[in-house]
Amino acid sequence: MILPILQYGDPVLRAKGNRIEIIDDRIRELAANMIETMHAAHGVGLAAQQIGEALQLTVLDLSAVEDDRPSTLKLDGKDIDPKTAMPLVLINPEIELRGQAEVGVEGCLSFPEITGDIERAQSVTVRAQTLEDGTIQIEAGGFLARAIQHEGDHLNGILFIDRMRSAAKVALSSRLRRLQKETKRGIKHREPLVTETTL
Ligand code: ZN
Repeated sequence: MILPILQYGDPVLRAKGNRIEIIDDRIRELAANMIETMHAAHGVGLAAQQIGEALQLTVLDLSAVEDDRPSTLKLDGKDIDPKTAMPLVLINPEIELRGQAEVGVEGCLSFPEITGDIERAQSVTVRAQTLEDGTIQIEAGGFLARAIQHEGDHLNGILFIDRMRSAAKVALSSRLRRLQKETKRGIKHREPLVTETTL
């Protein structure tokens, strides 16, 4: 089932996600619906807050952008082709930042038609639970590392505009105010402009 994606201005986007204690059919159905919703919106990542649930749950699928914005992935210590691991479902992820910071373009499904240069760590190590109630350890680099940091922020109520340089944020301020107002009045936008970087 495709779920409505919340836009900037909705308070759930600012909520810290609750830890998921029991991985049951409700969570499995929610994750499946989130993957369907992300694919339908041509996004590459989606956090539970974006569909109105303040939970530590996020889904990612970077396979469509792998050629343009490549990633590296080690799953439980083994190098694997990132495409074969997609879609990824991360439950209660604990993310450790590694390497130096680098700047890259990001968009967000909750911010139609807005993109920005965001500084992120080059790589991350993640420990998370899976839908099968197991634990996985991920070492990610490239775009996957960026996407995981963007989603990890969502799970804590942090949005990518919070990490924009102040000049960029000032330049966007009237658009952000308009989007907030439209969200409060229930006006929905269609798909975001730059789909290959929307998380
Ligand atoms: Zn986002």
